[in-house]
Amino acid sequence: KPEIALAGRSNVGKSSFINKMIQRKNLARTSSKPGKTQTLNFYIINDAFYFVDVPGYGYAKVSKREREAWGRMVEEYLQTREALQATVLLVDFRHPPTEDDLIMYDYLKYFDLPVIVIATKLDKVKKSQRDKQLKVLKEELELEPEDVIIPFSAETGEGKDQAWQALSSYLV
Ligand code: GDP
Repeated sequence: KPEIALAGRSNVGKSSFINKMIQRKNLARTSSKPGKTQTLNFYIINDAFYFVDVPGYGYAKVSKREREAWGRMVEEYLQTREALQATVLLVDFRHPPTEDDLIMYDYLKYFDLPVIVIATKLDKVKKSQRDKQLKVLKEELELEPEDVIIPFSAETGEGKDQAWQALSSYLV
């Protein structure tokens, strides 16, 4: 079955994204704290494909050894994947992309993978601020033409249809 990798720093809203997309409350548990040994988690979705949860990056507080172990695991997966069709990078709609977000985006592009950027927690931003915020995210990430950015809220479900549409285009 095809695989879609999900990346995003801890607490960005990855589990909430998965749960909202499949209308579950608690299938994807909230991610473990940085510092624990982390693995790739596979979630079967609608019996059709896998979301592959790449554990959170943004490890300012973890040791070099742990960062390196993370790097080896993720790199091995991205390099040897046969079923991997695309990736989802979660960022926080409220803020400009962090340094870690920018590095992760470039990293995914280095492996030649299409990226669907999900800018989550949309509900926390006033309607009047949204256009401006979206523009900042687009500009700072320097999105490549094949990639899309979708404002999303796990609270209201806004952006869910667009997210499904973007995913479907990689699930043929
Ligand atoms: P993860 O660590 O990336 O898996 O993040 P979680 O899904 O556990 O979310 C982290 C926190 O952000 C939790 O308190 C969620 O309730 C909250 N959260 C996630 N997505 C949204 C969203 O779209 N809107 C709002 N208001 N809160 C969100």
